Amino acid sequence: MALKFSVLTLFPEMFDMLKTSIIGRAVEKGLIDVSCVNIRDFTKNKHRRVDDYPYGAGGGMVMQAQPIYDAYRSVAGDDRPLVIYMSPQGKVLNQKLARDLSREEHIILLCGHYEGVDERVLEEIVDMEVSIGDYVLTGGELPAMVLIDCVSRMREGVLDSKETFETESHYDGLLEYPQYTRPPEFMGRTVPEVLLGGNHKDIESWRREKKLERTRKKRPDLLKKALLTKADKEYLENFFDKIEKKP
Ligand code: SAM
Repeated sequence: MALKFSVLTLFPEMFDMLKTSIIGRAVEKGLIDVSCVNIRDFTKNKHRRVDDYPYGAGGGMVMQAQPIYDAYRSVAGDDRPLVIYMSPQGKVLNQKLARDLSREEHIILLCGHYEGVDERVLEEIVDMEVSIGDYVLTGGELPAMVLIDCVSRMREGVLDSKETFETESHYDGLLEYPQYTRPPEFMGRTVPEVLLGGNHKDIESWRREKKLERTRKKRPDLLKKALLTKADKEYLENFFDKIEKKP
């Protein structure tokens, strides 16, 4: 069964971007379904307005509750989909949350714009707020596309076995090992010998070591939560002790 995303937005044309690459292929294969609902089509205002001034004054405009609620009702049906409001105030998206969301059947994504959305419709329909980082964007469309992309990659069949997400950064709390392709030499830099040798056991342990080294160098904060074996811990201690003690 396809994982269905229904996006409530004022700018459905922005989502054309998802017709390319891996996500485009997943849609073609029927693994993912992305449909956009234009909130503006549900306004009862004769000038097709969907926003108004905020009560209590202040700058900017606020998206009105009624068109959003009616847009939501048009896709919600009786199956009670999970409703996510893309918001800088939400839980910050990470690989674990993406994995959990990939097990859903139908997700409705509400994209805000302007100063935001009338709080009452959020209270009425939203199950979860999700942010893509601690900064503010113009609208929820880019965040929704980020979420659709990373959640879809976790859905079975979307990636073929060669590009499985289980070896990618953040899946097990570590960063991925370095990657190389042809030619074997580029500007005097050669591919590590072990990768040319074809010994899978050696390649596996080299990759594990590189994952540990890179995470320690680039994102040491991740190591606090990563599941490390005794051998991993010993390797890290040895590797960094050696480097840090160099004169
Ligand atoms: N006034 C709001 C506030 O301070 O919390 C920000 C509104 S923002 C300009 C407009 C819309 O962009 C939001 O309603 C939300 O849908 C989306 N948005 C902005 N930054 C986001 C982020 N980091 N993650 C997810 N959505 C975001």
